[in-house]
Amino acid sequence: MILLDANENPFSSDYNRYPDPMQTELKAKIAQWKEVRVEQLYLSNGSDEFISQLIFACCEPNKDHILIVPPTFGMYQVAAHTLGVSVQEIPLNESFQLDVEAILETANTASRLLFIPTPNNPTANSFNPKDLEKIIQSFPGLVVIDEAYIEFAQQPSFIGLLDSYSNLVVCQTFSKAQGMAGARLGMAFAHPELITFLNRLKAPYNINSLTINAALERLENQEEIQEQVDFLLRERKRLETAFLEISFILKVFPSDANFILIRVDDSTLRYQQLLEKGIVVRNPSKNRSCENTLRITVGLESENNSLIKILQTLDR
Ligand code: PMP
Repeated sequence: MILLDANENPFSSDYNRYPDPMQTELKAKIAQWKEVRVEQLYLSNGSDEFISQLIFACCEPNKDHILIVPPTFGMYQVAAHTLGVSVQEIPLNESFQLDVEAILETANTASRLLFIPTPNNPTANSFNPKDLEKIIQSFPGLVVIDEAYIEFAQQPSFIGLLDSYSNLVVCQTFSKAQGMAGARLGMAFAHPELITFLNRLKAPYNINSLTINAALERLENQEEIQEQVDFLLRERKRLETAFLEISFILKVFPSDANFILIRVDDSTLRYQQLLEKGIVVRNPSKNRSCENTLRITVGLESENNSLIKILQTLDR
């Protein structure tokens, strides 16, 4: 074909043409990989964009609301507020598990979306799958299971239940285990009717060619990704064991992700001390039930060694 339709520069380079607006090749490969139908798959500029798009698509401002389960990923609330949609909070219980009864009692016809990240950020644990299924069965709106960290988890993905529940939405990302945070690619899996609706709302070329090409390449390298995940899980265990020996670390919360939440004596002090030694961690202490906690990502072996050494020095 001679392409004279899109006002592009005709001089050939890798990127002089617009990308495929429907990402046909990439979606076919992802659908095969995740064992879903292409009609159940939507791609976004990171899961962050999908979260906003879904709230925009499903909620009427000043009327509907979303439900979140704090301590939780901050983006759900930020996106809802930006779009004029209110947020109802149903806190996790003391074991950082879902309060199923409170969720179902609070939900009403204005509860369009319930966001549940599992494994959860910042607490790092997975939620009880039986609780999740009970919620999906009875919740009046869509239940979004955010599986950003699923590659690190013991629990299987909820993607397998898509055909059983039309109100189930699962999102995953290339940003974590897949090692492509800079390329921005999110995957959402849902009932084909919702996917069709999202496709109508999206910008025509929402996934750029650089990202599409990088993702296609990454799909060919899943053995290497699995090796990295296995390595990070071993390193997570090593860090957990080392943390238990540090006297100012009061608790190491169980992790099903590539990060660990710990409770310390004084999170502001310990955060600052680590920063001064050149280590940046996250202080999520402002989150509900997260007083005096630090969230630490599992790094390379040498990085984890430095972290352990510095913690030991601070403990003396
Ligand atoms: N969901 C959760 C639970 C996260 O922790 C994050 C990133 N911190 C995201 C979604 C965002 O992922 P993405 O990079 O694909 O926008």
